[in-house]
Amino acid sequence: MSTKDYRSKRDFDKTGEPRGSSDHKSSKQPCFVIQKHDASTLHYDFRIEVDGVLKSWAVPKGPSTDPGEKRLAIPTEDHPLEYADFEGVIPEDEYGGGTVMIWDRGTYENITEKDDEAQPIEKAVEAGHALIELHGEKLQGGYALHRTGSGDDARWLLIKMDDEHADARRNPVSSEKKSVESDRTMKQIADEEGGKDG
Ligand code: MN
Repeated sequence: MSTKDYRSKRDFDKTGEPRGSSDHKSSKQPCFVIQKHDASTLHYDFRIEVDGVLKSWAVPKGPSTDPGEKRLAIPTEDHPLEYADFEGVIPEDEYGGGTVMIWDRGTYENITEKDDEAQPIEKAVEAGHALIELHGEKLQGGYALHRTGSGDDARWLLIKMDDEHADARRNPVSSEKKSVESDRTMKQIADEEGGKDG
């Protein structure tokens, strides 16, 4: 799903989300962002920079630090790289209306291998098996994105890899609730940004 889908779903006169330019600059270290999104149903948008866009999945329960937890991750449309900086309120009558928080952000390394060789992240995502090491403020260490099934039955799972950053007791989704960008709660973002014009 391309950023064309992203643009077609939004009215940029009404929402403050970035339009995204076609000529993107790619940083040396690819970035990731996890945006807590209080839309019709609360979820965490997990986005990783791949080939100039943010490949995106909606994770209803949010990421876990417990390798025993498999978190459902629903693919959504690619977002422009600038979206990684977006925190604010999408108007209620717009697509994805609700409060968006930058819950975690940082860089990642692609650690996917195939036949003992490094596999480019584009290929890994396409193949449905990507291993990445996050260097975020809340999340660190390896995470696996795995697609199971095919066609309409395809499901993606986000799973913490069992490394030194794995911690079954930590549960950051419930214990670390503030924005890494602004140190605000969801309510503070909603109160402070909600009245602004898009
Ligand atoms: Mn969302």
